[in-house]
Amino acid sequence: FDPVRLVRPNIGRLLPYSSARDEFSGEARIYLDANENSLGSPTRESFHRYPDPYQKELKRKIAGIENLGAEKIFIGNGSDEAIDLLFRVFCEPGIDNCVICPPTYGMYEVSAGINDIEVRRAPLTEDFELDRESVIAKADERTKLVFICSPNNPTGNSMDRRAIVEIADKLNAVIVVDEAYIHFSPQSSVVREMEARPNIVVLRTFSKAWGLAGLRLGTAFADERIIALLNKVKPPYNVSEAAQREALAAIENEAEVRSMVERLLVLRTDLRSELSSIPMVETIFPSDANFLLLRVRKPKEVYDFLSSQGIIVRDRSRVELCEGCLRITVGTRGENAELVTSLREFGE
Ligand code: PMP
Repeated sequence: FDPVRLVRPNIGRLLPYSSARDEFSGEARIYLDANENSLGSPTRESFHRYPDPYQKELKRKIAGIENLGAEKIFIGNGSDEAIDLLFRVFCEPGIDNCVICPPTYGMYEVSAGINDIEVRRAPLTEDFELDRESVIAKADERTKLVFICSPNNPTGNSMDRRAIVEIADKLNAVIVVDEAYIHFSPQSSVVREMEARPNIVVLRTFSKAWGLAGLRLGTAFADERIIALLNKVKPPYNVSEAAQREALAAIENEAEVRSMVERLLVLRTDLRSELSSIPMVETIFPSDANFLLLRVRKPKEVYDFLSSQGIIVRDRSRVELCEGCLRITVGTRGENAELVTSLREFGE
């Protein structure tokens, strides 16, 4: 597999923008090359300089955590940016296609639509497992991307690693494994699988376990040739200085993240047992993520009742295979208690 052979021809030919920080990346006394405000910025912390376009320090830290070469790491403005860049790098509008496994994260399809890429659907089985034969059958020589979300949003379960590996081995396409929720799962990452299979891209985000959704930081781990292509197409300064600094500080506090994950797992277990004693809750699906998917008797009415009480959950009841389902993020102990009280009040 040579990822460069799958690239959109115009991207292969593209001469990327060369920023001031590309042309000079060493240390200097005086910077008069980027038309910044030489006098400073009106903020407490200084932001008058453009950030490192390749986030080298942050990548070094992430490389240490993941035991992965920094050249195999891309950092984006959320993992949503990486999803869009993968389409722009690999998919020829109006010609190429991608395969998704619904019900799954909605942005794969929206990004495909924005980029005018056909979406082929290989739905999960009734018990939300990958249908590997269907994924393989749906793909053809114009399939450039296959999206597998594990643990999956909105179903919450992890996908079988052997199925993911088999799909990666059988297809000459980029297999994007979205591990946004992996920190809440007992299942290990496919990053180690990726090392022998250069067509696997692993997406991660700082928005979930790391508690930094507002900063907008996501990563893609992949073969260095794929990372080089993402870097070629990304906006030059796609991750702000503020985001880079805060992420570095967060990494120093990694123990706090581990502790929050442990607490969220306890809260998830407790929320599940509270919800299971409510008669109108029909099914609570297994979850390896920081949310629960549940089937209730009157989803629309329950949703409206909760929102009238100021509690917003996600109505997934019109999503295929999720009929009647609500997706509920694990809250704080107090938030979960209020949710449960409101659901009991709804009755029926
Ligand atoms: N992947 C999945 C599966 C998600 O659920 C989300 C956010 N809900 C994202 C990616 C996007 O994350 P980010 O905030 O990093 O753009």
